Amino acid sequence: DNPVQRKPAWIRVRAPGHPVYRETQQLMRAHQLSTVCEEAACPNIGECWSQRHATMMIMGEICTRACAFCNVTTGLPQPLDPQEPERVAQAVARLGLRHVVITSVDRDDLPDGGAAHIAAVIRAIRQQAPETTVEVLTPDFLRKPGALEIVVAARPDVFNHNIETVPRLYPSIRPGARYYQSLRLLDRVKQLDPSIFTKSGLMLGLGEEREEVSQVMDDFRIADVDFLTLGQYLQPSVKHAPVREFVTPEEFGNYAAQARGKGFLQVSATPLTRSSYHADRDFASLQAE
Ligand code: SF4
Ligand code: SF4
Repeated sequence: DNPVQRKPAWIRVRAPGHPVYRETQQLMRAHQLSTVCEEAACPNIGECWSQRHATMMIMGEICTRACAFCNVTTGLPQPLDPQEPERVAQAVARLGLRHVVITSVDRDDLPDGGAAHIAAVIRAIRQQAPETTVEVLTPDFLRKPGALEIVVAARPDVFNHNIETVPRLYPSIRPGARYYQSLRLLDRVKQLDPSIFTKSGLMLGLGEEREEVSQVMDDFRIADVDFLTLGQYLQPSVKHAPVREFVTPEEFGNYAAQARGKGFLQVSATPLTRSSYHADRDFASLQAE
């Protein structure tokens, strides 16, 4: 159970440098937008940005939580920027995306956890880019009664909330969160509006057992979660939780087959899968079915 240092050959990253990559980068700068692609030092940035697929991170760059796997700075965030929904929507329109993923930091400092701001972003995108389908990747809204309802009422196409890891590892990996709260959140979205697709995912390689992952999949299906993502955890710096295992591509394939057998509508499980990786392509293919 020792930490593993060296990245295996299958964790390959395509270098940024494509002209469209630079266009995407300039557009994000011009609209003063942060992306999880950069904040999380995502290994897929070269590929995604060269297809204009950037995942914007709203509500600031400082998070009130301190998850052990996450590269985002912890602290007291700045007040919300009321212009942000418009800027995000303009950027989405200019990128010409068919599907966009919007994520955020956690805002435990706000009475509604930022729910009204997320809803405003969804509405602004609907106005400026009516053809674009919208996926929100939300906080857990722990101790924020009424917050979830506000986001659901704005009717995103996909409601994504990552459970991140198995319940046993929550105290060390996701200390500010509660496994069953996150699960209930997903369940509740379906109860409030069954037309919204729900999505969640885990990072593998943090020390979880195969049976525990299988149990989480079962919990998801009971909560009617539609889409599943599984990817390899990569340690952003030595201060973050260590990698306990590099799960092989074959093993990811086994998990994918298992998940399909359990009835998820869509499964993405590869070492480089991230919550937003190929989200555009996957959602488009689902709509075409
Ligand atoms: Fe950004 Fe997601 Fe692509 Fe990573 S996988 S670069 S976070 S869009
Ligand atoms: Fe990172 Fe999200 Fe945890 Fe904040 S809540 S530290 S942004 S994973």
